Amino acid sequence: MKVSVAPLLKQSVGDHMDLHVQESPVDPRGDNAGLLDADITAFDADIKATHTDPGAYLEGGVRAEVAQQCVRCLRPIHSPVAARFAEQYYATERVETGAPMPSAPRDAKTIGSDFLIDLTPLIREEVILATPQAPLCRPGCRGLCPVCGEDLNERPHDHEPAPDARWAALEKLKDVKD
Ligand SMILES: [Zn+2]
Ligand SMILES: [Zn+2]
Repeated sequence: MKVSVAPLLKQSVGDHMDLHVQESPVDPRGDNAGLLDADITAFDADIKATHTDPGAYLEGGVRAEVAQQCVRCLRPIHSPVAARFAEQYYATERVETGAPMPSAPRDAKTIGSDFLIDLTPLIREEVILATPQAPLCRPGCRGLCPVCGEDLNERPHDHEPAPDARWAALEKLKDVKD
């Protein structure tokens, strides 16, 4: 989702505007489709954009839902993820005159001549960082049976230890002796 900071940059330095953006579920053909690459299926963000000397400073928080899989039983789950962010964007030209601004530091995020800031990559990055690495469908999920692959939450069970071929051979010898 792109927001125009042109109106903000026409105000005094220190002025701010509040943004609220949300989409649930994220539309695969919409502006925020890039979030689906990170399995973000819904989000709700509150952002405060402040006019700073080099451009616009965006800070805020996002709550998102991320489609994941339980690492033990592989059941699909939706993890709620909350993240905070703060990012300085450097204007490359003056909004009133189009005159070039002093160049931004290397690797800095910049605002182009359209004065639009794309919020999608910002939200995406922060949500990815805050997403649990080894999610469980429930505390103490029993996972899948290593022998038959059945879900041990649904049908807790054990298997008889498999007969070992070497022991079977010894048993035969014993029979011969008797
Ligand atoms: Zn599970
Ligand atoms: Zn089993």
